[in-house]
Amino acid sequence: MTKNMNYDAIAIGAGLAGSSAAIQLAQRGYRVLLLEQSHYPMHRLCGEFLSIEVTDAFEKLGLLEQVRKIGAHPIHRAYLTTASGASFRGKLPSAALGLSRYQLDLMLFQRAQAVKVDCLDSTKVLDVVGDFSSGFTVSTSKGDFKSRLVLGAFGKRSPLDRTLNRKFIRQRSPWVAYKGHYTGVDLGDVIELHSFPNGYCGLSQIETGEINVCWIAHERVTKEDLDPELAIPHSLAQNPVLADRFRNMQRTSPSLQGLSQISFALKGNFHGDICMIGDTAGMITPLCGDGMAMALRSSEMAVPLVSQFLDGEISAIAFKQKYAISWQREFQTRLQLGRIMHNCLIQPPLADFGIKLCETFPALGNWVIGATRGKISADKGLKPLVYKDAH
Ligand SMILES: Cc1cc2nc3c(=O)[nH]c(=O)nc-3n(C[C@H](O)[C@H](O)[C@H](O)COP(=O)(O)OP(=O)(O)OC[C@H]3O[C@@H](n4cnc5c(N)ncnc54)[C@H](O)[C@@H]3O)c2cc1C
Repeated sequence: MTKNMNYDAIAIGAGLAGSSAAIQLAQRGYRVLLLEQSHYPMHRLCGEFLSIEVTDAFEKLGLLEQVRKIGAHPIHRAYLTTASGASFRGKLPSAALGLSRYQLDLMLFQRAQAVKVDCLDSTKVLDVVGDFSSGFTVSTSKGDFKSRLVLGAFGKRSPLDRTLNRKFIRQRSPWVAYKGHYTGVDLGDVIELHSFPNGYCGLSQIETGEINVCWIAHERVTKEDLDPELAIPHSLAQNPVLADRFRNMQRTSPSLQGLSQISFALKGNFHGDICMIGDTAGMITPLCGDGMAMALRSSEMAVPLVSQFLDGEISAIAFKQKYAISWQREFQTRLQLGRIMHNCLIQPPLADFGIKLCETFPALGNWVIGATRGKISADKGLKPLVYKDAH
């Protein structure tokens, strides 16, 4: 790889959106550079609950066999509870998977390398200047790189958002999240979502048999004293089922991963001429468990347009308009519904009302779960992703 090489496209951030976009572009024959600030392999803060609509994406990326080999954990049912003891047991509209980000992101990064994307991890992007007419210069901790097009896939929040002076970064967000792996309980094929005042916590099993525990809360929760017995803030322990889970679990991760200022604002599909994909364009609230599928889907939506633009088949204006329209059509309703559900779940009276309503009308509960995720092709399901004898 030479720094003077002029790439067709540079993807900033090797999470799900960036790696998958880079793979698809390389599969179409373009010269692509993928830049990631962290070093692979690594753990990443996430609920690690993978909606089955990703089957299509994995197939196109050539990853089905590998996901099977890893032995992702099948999940079919959901269990929701509130601090006052209301609960709802529902069925997922289609089966889902528990798969660690440690494995998933590494698998994508290695696939990008295999299809001849130039991949650089431990490389932080410091700035991007340029546009479609003059080309882009991407400045990194390892020097400058040039390209005809740039894909912004740098996730929920990055110092690069500030450098680019994106609007959403000026608004403070109070949401903090923590994640860790635990052993000690067997959840089987159930994903659990337990609400508590000002937040909620998801638990589900991953390919290693460990339980991924991930909670999001208003920052005021983390300023509380810890429950001395459970080593978690008092708010979490107010949910009796969650308190019981923590009492019986032992953490296997050396430490918890944390993240602050998580924003659910719409951030924009383009910044100048930089095309934004995944969380960099906008993020769904975590309780929907659909952010990863959306990140993969947004790259699938962007890549054909990128290709048409690079080949001179559509203008810059048409590229921007078509991407914005398809993004809104596909994600806008899901994002809004996710925000409403998030706001209900963090307020105990509303959480109680909602969960009791689902208890009384299970079809409603199942509809809400289904409405926050994308469609899968009729012939796709869990089967292509799980070996018969896995778990
Ligand atoms: C608490 C919580 C729980 C969640 N649980 C789930 C769940 O269970 N299921 C689900 O589907 N979704 C979940 N999500 C959402 C999901 O994690 C995201 O939607 C998904 O990771 C988005 O992928 P991405 O590629 O856009 O971003 P990311 O996966 O965040 O990747 C962005 C990458 O860009 C890199 N980067 C950032 N800045 C730079 C820079 N300057 N230079 C180079 N690289 C840079 C980062 O290091 C990172 O690797 C959850 C989110 C949160 C906050």
